[in-house]
Amino acid sequence: MGIVKRPQCKICRRVGKKLFLKGEKCLTQKCPMVTKPYPPGIRGKRRRGGLSEYGRELLEKQKLKYWYNLQERQFKKYVKEVLEESRKKGKDATQALIRRLESRLDNVVFKLGFADSRRQARQLVSHGHFLLNGKPVNIPSIEVKKGDVIQVKPSSQNKDIFKTFSLLKLKKYHPPSWLKLDPKKMEGEVVGAPTLEEASPPAEISSIFEFYSK
Ligand code: SF4
Repeated sequence: MGIVKRPQCKICRRVGKKLFLKGEKCLTQKCPMVTKPYPPGIRGKRRRGGLSEYGRELLEKQKLKYWYNLQERQFKKYVKEVLEESRKKGKDATQALIRRLESRLDNVVFKLGFADSRRQARQLVSHGHFLLNGKPVNIPSIEVKKGDVIQVKPSSQNKDIFKTFSLLKLKKYHPPSWLKLDPKKMEGEVVGAPTLEEASPPAEISSIFEFYSK
């Protein structure tokens, strides 16, 4: 449930930004944002004129929504909840939104290097390949907190899908500072809180708040 089904590369071309949705291909010269850096469709090359204010805010919203592989309903819920909470408690809404999105279990699995993309991470979590604090978990939207331990299920570690994430590859991988990775155990621990700076989202968050505030 909830998987964004559009062709991934067309999403990048439509929003005009590399969103790194396809793992290693995104880092190669085969990336369509390198070979065809214009919107898809027969008039793609001619489009990209000036955008209205609404169009610009919509574009920023789409970038972040697809970056985290969320559907509109889920994404809107995060934004509305964060705006509500920041109004009540005077919290920084931008930091709060990124913190919540980054804390999702599927994002954490991706950031620990156990999946090539958030989309793949979501699938792996849904298929029950992970333990959270030693217990089986299959809900990608669960939000982790400091002290939580995420591990690839021992019975899943030898499956083909995880062989691509060999020990050697994981040993060279550096997760963000709020996560600690133990490549041998295929285990990660949440040791801090995600920050806007490290998450480095591809969109202007204030425009997204504007979009949903109208
Ligand atoms: Fe496709 Fe990745 Fe390039 Fe986006 S960044 S166009 S998903 S290869």
